[in-house]
Amino acid sequence: MRLAAALAVILGLPSLAAAADPVTLASGQNAGSVVITHGGVGSPPEWSADCSDAALAGASAPGTALDAVCAAVVHLEDLCRFNAGTGANVRLDGKTIQMDAAVMTSDGQFAAVAAIERVLNPVLVAREVLATPHRLLVGDGATRFAHVRGFADQVPICDEAVAKFRERWAKLLRGEAGGGFDDFDWRAAWNYPTALPAEAAATGAADESAGDTVGAVAGAVDGTFAAALSTGGTSITLYGRVGDVPIYGCGCFAGPAGAVACTGHGEEIIRLAMARLVYERMASGDTAREAVRAGCEIFGQEWPLGLIAVGPVDWAVGANAPMAWGQAAP
Ligand code: ASP
Repeated sequence: MRLAAALAVILGLPSLAAAADPVTLASGQNAGSVVITHGGVGSPPEWSADCSDAALAGASAPGTALDAVCAAVVHLEDLCRFNAGTGANVRLDGKTIQMDAAVMTSDGQFAAVAAIERVLNPVLVAREVLATPHRLLVGDGATRFAHVRGFADQVPICDEAVAKFRERWAKLLRGEAGGGFDDFDWRAAWNYPTALPAEAAATGAADESAGDTVGAVAGAVDGTFAAALSTGGTSITLYGRVGDVPIYGCGCFAGPAGAVACTGHGEEIIRLAMARLVYERMASGDTAREAVRAGCEIFGQEWPLGLIAVGPVDWAVGANAPMAWGQAAP
């Protein structure tokens, strides 16, 4: 889905958003500790109540900034409407559900899972990877690791995700073009374990949209930070596609200067190593608000992007399209 520049919307704090901005921007003071969440760029702002509840769940979780972001992301993973955990996207074959998740803390610890299946809370599996010598587990290895570590062997499927898949498949069959598949014959590259459905043989390109991925950043009273992300990825993709979420420096980043979490067109986020780019601005002295604005401007308007960030002085939310988000402080 390509985005027009005119898609900027006001996210919750109208007094803080400049009307002429090409991006939405909201921000506030970090008075000591704070949790910010997003429901994925493209998620309706009306879902912000869920994101606020998630931020509150994070802010109420006893422990570290990492505990806070994990609690916040689990809250969103457990809701069907978001494309993560329980509500994760169903892929193009109508069966596959593969998820990515990552966590990072301000002491430089990073861990992730990619293309994991049959777990309800991938973010907690990513956290579990922190306790191993590895940084990234993928596919069957990630799934098996989760089950060995006691995560229930359960397919995260719900009616909302199935309905979203049917809608996208119908669009595909109508030949509605868009996204990264504009000039790419997905049928010729079909790599799913099941055969290309006969009904797809005569159709056009895919209309893909990023959206409803979930993320959180937190700053704790001890001056530490953490970020976490979880996604069902994009729906209209080849089998095995992995986005920015579990790639170091791309979907999320944290360090002594703060924490950043992205959402949007994963391939473009990877190309720009977006989370690290925004973080480096904060490390060079930008406030979270300045860094988020700069990140949105660099990314531009062609692809969807949402950012949340927190630093020692402030927190910020930016997006070039509608996006649900939340904020809470203990
Ligand atoms: N960035 C995610 C991905 O590419 C999608 C999203 O944020 O909605 O997998």
